[in-house]
Amino acid sequence: MVMLSKALILDGNRVATEIKERLAGRVEKLAAHGIVPCLATILVGDDPASATYVRMKGNACKRLGIRSVRVDLPSETTTVELIAAIQALNEDPNVHGILLQHPVPHHIDERAAFDSISIDKDVDGVTTQGFAQNAFGFAAFPSCTPAAIMAILDYYKLPVAGKHAVVIGRSPILGKPVSAMLLNEDATVTTCHSKTVGLEHHVRSADIVVAAVGKPKFVQGDWMKPGAVVLDAGYNPGNVGDVDYEACLPHASAITPVPAGVGPVTIATLLKHTVDAAERISREVK
Ligand code: NAP
Repeated sequence: MVMLSKALILDGNRVATEIKERLAGRVEKLAAHGIVPCLATILVGDDPASATYVRMKGNACKRLGIRSVRVDLPSETTTVELIAAIQALNEDPNVHGILLQHPVPHHIDERAAFDSISIDKDVDGVTTQGFAQNAFGFAAFPSCTPAAIMAILDYYKLPVAGKHAVVIGRSPILGKPVSAMLLNEDATVTTCHSKTVGLEHHVRSADIVVAAVGKPKFVQGDWMKPGAVVLDAGYNPGNVGDVDYEACLPHASAITPVPAGVGPVTIATLLKHTVDAAERISREVK
């Protein structure tokens, strides 16, 4: 049986383009004051996927006139050495944002490394302090992928207040902060994880489904409540999301594709936060 879909395809490239267009003038204004926004990206080890993400972020910076600095560290880097590299960037007045590419090698204390990033330069929203601010609803720089998901909902004017949102995943950079952001926008939120009993049952009652699992095509079409809004944060090898897109499409009222869904908006959000940080610092030095 062929099921026809009337789902709205939530075009991440379109949302990202609008965010970046709004940034261009702000970058020019900063340049007139002799300030070039600068994002420093730290990559530890040689994970090819991480190297690709870092390259994509660097290219996106370049296209917008944002300077990007790459710090590549070997896999054997210790926690102390990584924190020393982060401290040097914290103290560099020409660096406005710092991104430590996740994941770092297992022997490194990732939380300690994240928490050594200055809150003023935590443009990826990974510090404990940034997480807490996000939970309270006043973060300067909320975690980029959760902020991207909220930006897509906002762009397409999809209502959140009063809706039942089911988030699958509870990582500190994605599942937990997006749950908090949806809650702050007055959704009723259920956060699911690997120990959740009856996951499908929870998803079947969701008006909004956020997939942040890290498992290709994990979310099934027959789990969907008719008319659900589906946001797929997943990005697995082969450009595959965490949602079985083809199977969910006929049931959803709106859905993000992978690629060209949440991913480009995440990068645009990172650029926005870097420009925000440069503007904040430039106001302080005036
Ligand atoms: P993560 O740290 O591995 O977290 C995965 C979460 O999924 C965990 O909370 C885990 O539960 C839960 N989970 C695993 N198996 C499950 C199951 N069978 N049922 C229910 N929940 C289950 O991953 P992440 O960093 O949050 O990333 C999630 C996805 O988003 C990945 O595909 C990643 O590539 C993608 N991502 C995309 C972007 C972007 O810009 N688009 C950015 C970051 C990440 P437990 O907590 O119980 O282990």
